[in-house]
Amino acid sequence: MQRTKIKELLTGAEVGNDVLLKGWVRTKRGNKYVNFIAVTDGSTIQNLQVVADAEKFPEETLKDVTTGASVAITGELVASQGKGQAYEVIAKTIEVLGKADPETYPLQKKAHSLEFLREIAHLRFRTNTFGAVFRVRNTLAFAVHKFFNERGFVYMHTPIVTASDAEGAGEMFRVTTLDLDNLPRTDEGKIDFEEDFFGRATNLTVSGQLEGELAAMAFSDIYTFGPTFRAENSNTARHLAEFWMIEPEMAFYDLKMNADLAEDFIRYVIRYAMEQNREDLEFLAQRLQEEDKAKPQQERQEMTLLEKLEFVVSNQFERITYTDAIDILVNSPAYKKKKFQYEVAWGVDLQSEHERYLVEKHFKKPVIVTDYPKDIKSFYMRLNDDGKTVAAMDILAPGIGEIVGGSQREERLELLTQRMDEIGIPTEEMWWYLDTRRYGGCPHAGFGLGFERLVQFVTGMGNIRDVIPFPRTPKNAEF
Ligand code: ATP
Ligand code: MG
Ligand code: MG
Ligand code: MG
Repeated sequence: MQRTKIKELLTGAEVGNDVLLKGWVRTKRGNKYVNFIAVTDGSTIQNLQVVADAEKFPEETLKDVTTGASVAITGELVASQGKGQAYEVIAKTIEVLGKADPETYPLQKKAHSLEFLREIAHLRFRTNTFGAVFRVRNTLAFAVHKFFNERGFVYMHTPIVTASDAEGAGEMFRVTTLDLDNLPRTDEGKIDFEEDFFGRATNLTVSGQLEGELAAMAFSDIYTFGPTFRAENSNTARHLAEFWMIEPEMAFYDLKMNADLAEDFIRYVIRYAMEQNREDLEFLAQRLQEEDKAKPQQERQEMTLLEKLEFVVSNQFERITYTDAIDILVNSPAYKKKKFQYEVAWGVDLQSEHERYLVEKHFKKPVIVTDYPKDIKSFYMRLNDDGKTVAAMDILAPGIGEIVGGSQREERLELLTQRMDEIGIPTEEMWWYLDTRRYGGCPHAGFGLGFERLVQFVTGMGNIRDVIPFPRTPKNAEF
């Protein structure tokens, strides 16, 4: 007999037939007449209930059917009498494929804290919460490709190991072919990096943007979607050392078109997840509501997770300039009451607390902040006519802060090299980048969106460690 996944069995198409299901035991409960075994196989948040008659399956035969054990079960799929589920299986055979010792298996019936589950990240996929989160993550990843593919973007793979430092997008991990136990030394006793990466110093990529720009100058519209590394030696709820970034780059785009695309993109992927993962999102919403009950009134969410997502897909984001943002912040009650830890002043970058104030307290919706002072942004952003600001944009989301950073790029060779000279970036080393301006340069723009921050936003998970299967944070790299 062919195995059928539980998601499919729960559509009821096989009612009256004998079916084979395989999965893991969630719970077993019963009395002297009958046992109910809840089985999951990860295809849906729903368990399938298996009914095992006690006469046919005496206590002894079910002793290894415990939480976490893997099982293969055959039986008839029938409409369920009980409330809660529409269908169930009346067992004919039950085989335990792999036992899970109840004495040691860490995931027993009780609810576990997210902190505890982080320590057993190799098993946490098996919980309802992480099952839901990673199914949503999967859908969002698919939606990323779907969105760009429908718009004729070329999926471009940019390098992971690179000699470029993307001009300070983040702290880098070095990649080396040096024998670390036997380091070559210069005459002065320093490590001889000439020997690094077969003679070249290299890093793990912090952004694929600069390479992406090269490709956009040939295909018009491209995107990257791949792992990105930043040696963030800090413990925040929104930074990982290894994360996935989506970086579209478009020729013949200005900042407004860039912002429009980013907004369309975010709405599209959220809407897709709402269609595909309704049950998972309902479960996660419920989870958040439970969490909220433990909080003081003023810290509770005004909207449920689904209301928030619905709101985002059906309302325009607010758009303001950086200068407006500073204005709002210095005139805010929070500023007057000295609630901000960090300085607010024109020319100083916004911190997470400021970003969150703007989206959560002031506008109560996602905000696109544009036209930042040139000195706090990267060299490649296009200088505005005022000579002080650049055509940059950050998209800020409630509960998170920055989820997107983007800009229109400086396509004017002279202004670009002038800016590089000003901040001491050697133009000779970047000859390949400048070639795109020398030969057929054109206005172009793009952005980077942290995939995990998007997953955080959609699932409502507070900590970025809980939306990536294997989080890489300081000292955390074992599995
Ligand atoms: P932040 O201000 O939060 O440190 P950033 O300005 O350094 O972010 P960018 O260089 O603009 O980040 O990168 C583009 C996007 O990549 C960010 O908007 C964010 O969504 C995501 N991102 C950046 N750093 C990280 C990280 N360490 N972990 C997860 N996502 C990240
Ligand atoms: Mg950063
Ligand atoms: Mg930032
Ligand atoms: Mg940024």
